[in-house]
Amino acid sequence: MRQIKSIKTKLLIRIILSFVVLSIVIQAIVFVSFRNFSINTSKEMALSAAELIRDSITSFMILGVYDKRDIFLDRIKHTSGLKEIRVLRSKTVIQQFGQGTRESGMPSSLEEDVLRTGNIKCSVSENIFNVEYAIVIPYKASNGQVKCLQCHNASEGEVLGAVSVVVDLTSHRRTSVSTVSYMVAVSMLFSIGTLYMIFVFFKPYTELFHRLRFGFEHAAEGDFSSNKVEVVLSDEAGDVARGFNTMTDNLSATLASIDNKVSLLIGYQTAKTANALKDTTKTVDMLVKIYNFKRTIEKDALKSDIFLRIEQMLMEMEIENFSIYEVNPDNNSIRNVLCRADAKNDHCFRPLTEDNQTVFWCNEVILTDPAQCRAVRTGGIVDSREFSQVCQNFICGEDNQTNKPGYYCIPIHIGGHIGDVVQIVYYKDNDEITWLRIPYIKAHLQECEPVLEGKTFMELLRRQSLIDQLTGLYNRRFLDEVTNSLCRAAIRRGTLIGILLIDIDHFKQVNDTHGHDVGDKVLQKAASIIKVSVRESDMVVRYGGEEILVLLVDATEGKSSEVAEKIRGNIEHESLEIPSFTLKKTVSIGVSEFPTDSDKFWQCVKLADTALYKAKNDGRNRVCIYKEDM
Ligand code: GH3
Ligand code: MG
Ligand code: MG
Repeated sequence: MRQIKSIKTKLLIRIILSFVVLSIVIQAIVFVSFRNFSINTSKEMALSAAELIRDSITSFMILGVYDKRDIFLDRIKHTSGLKEIRVLRSKTVIQQFGQGTRESGMPSSLEEDVLRTGNIKCSVSENIFNVEYAIVIPYKASNGQVKCLQCHNASEGEVLGAVSVVVDLTSHRRTSVSTVSYMVAVSMLFSIGTLYMIFVFFKPYTELFHRLRFGFEHAAEGDFSSNKVEVVLSDEAGDVARGFNTMTDNLSATLASIDNKVSLLIGYQTAKTANALKDTTKTVDMLVKIYNFKRTIEKDALKSDIFLRIEQMLMEMEIENFSIYEVNPDNNSIRNVLCRADAKNDHCFRPLTEDNQTVFWCNEVILTDPAQCRAVRTGGIVDSREFSQVCQNFICGEDNQTNKPGYYCIPIHIGGHIGDVVQIVYYKDNDEITWLRIPYIKAHLQECEPVLEGKTFMELLRRQSLIDQLTGLYNRRFLDEVTNSLCRAAIRRGTLIGILLIDIDHFKQVNDTHGHDVGDKVLQKAASIIKVSVRESDMVVRYGGEEILVLLVDATEGKSSEVAEKIRGNIEHESLEIPSFTLKKTVSIGVSEFPTDSDKFWQCVKLADTALYKAKNDGRNRVCIYKEDM
């Protein structure tokens, strides 16, 4: 974690530093001032003493008591507090009067300087223990008031000697050091007092900063509940604390409101964490996803496309095992339109031969009896968490208690009944993640409902518009729609389309003799015989009146006439039971092949018609294959 210096520490460091610097500077100034003052005072005192000594000695000389000078010098040394007094003679005076007792001893360099130049000189010498101030003044020959030249063999202004005085300043220094020490002590006490006052004054402010920091850190993580800042100050800082509390309250309330409104829109409440920001973002993201999902499926053309979208959505949510079932209310059956399962389901795998359907988890009875599916029958969610055997027809894992899957079946309502069922299957290793995703899945499926309903009705309408109501066969419109793609596929694959044009013989007689209803029944019977006589992939179309067109997809050469003969035989041998009598009918069939007879489909139909005409002419109840000479 980043090491943060608190405001308190920073403030203390700065104040202590400025106090230390300030006291050092002040004490240095005081110390230096003291020193200068004592040196200047000593300088004046020493100069006066030196001048006094010089003048006194002159007087002693005039009075002729020069030999008494030592008494005077000792007394003056004692009374003025001087450390040392020396009277020096120049070389000329020494030559004239001798060395003298008081003036003996080697002159210092300062004294020599004065004797040589005749200028006043002074110096300060100091070490840790002592401070001394020395001043040396010259003694010059004059012939004014004092007639020096009367006794001295010297010229006017010549240096005759010097008076050297040394003042001891050690006691001065001691005084200044003790004064400075008192000042240090006083300023230390003052600093500590000031620091304490600052510390006490700033404590609530630093605490406020600390709480705000804590609050912002939690707010950044979406937690607005545990970070209220206590308002203890009544100044601007108090306003900041109140402002922060209001801001977090508003944010928290706004996020909760967004979350609730979005939850209402998508129809469920998402799982909540401690992070309100993340929760809201997640909920809004989900809303956007669901909205996009709905927009996408609305533009899908077919129901099968929507089923693929549901599959995609489930896979994105890491749901690995699921099935989608479609209920067909017309023939009361269920179709397993989509199924996805991983290897864990091997023990549940049961292929169904019919229609190549595969039901992994349920008893296949549901396929032919939708009421056996609990979700279809009750119209509600079927959740194995409520009761493990809630659906008797979920049979996967019955014999394998250790790896028995759980299931969650969501019915989708279409036009007042259950149109589809989405079945989610999960194993112990991913049950929690599945339960977590179920609300999202339900929200998506909820959006699917109206779209699936619309598509179902559209497909029903379309199917009805392409199917002949009387026979259940495709109508001419269907033929118009599929021929192009059918022909292109046959050419691409290099296969044939067998075209059989079938016409019921003497059908008018049936109408005329037994009435139109019996005529309709004959037509229906013929249609169903023809349907079962051809493959599932072949197309049987009511071409018009009692004429039926059969397209044999991917036929091989010669196969068409074989199938035509089979149809003719089947109809000939079948009879229609009508109360009070039995009716038998025959058909004539004209056969052509696309693209062998013509590379134009409708031309081939015409050629089949030509062959049919020939079959009729040749005596009916027969198959006639188109030949070029017809
Ligand atoms: P042919 O052996 O030459 O085919 O003789 P036909 O009597 O079958 O042929 P025709 O074309 O003379 O008669 C067709 C009749 O089929 C005429 C029409 O009334 C009847 N028909 C057409 N559509 C229907 C229908 O939907 N229901 C009934 N009951 N009769 C239909
Ligand atoms: Mg006819
Ligand atoms: Mg006919």
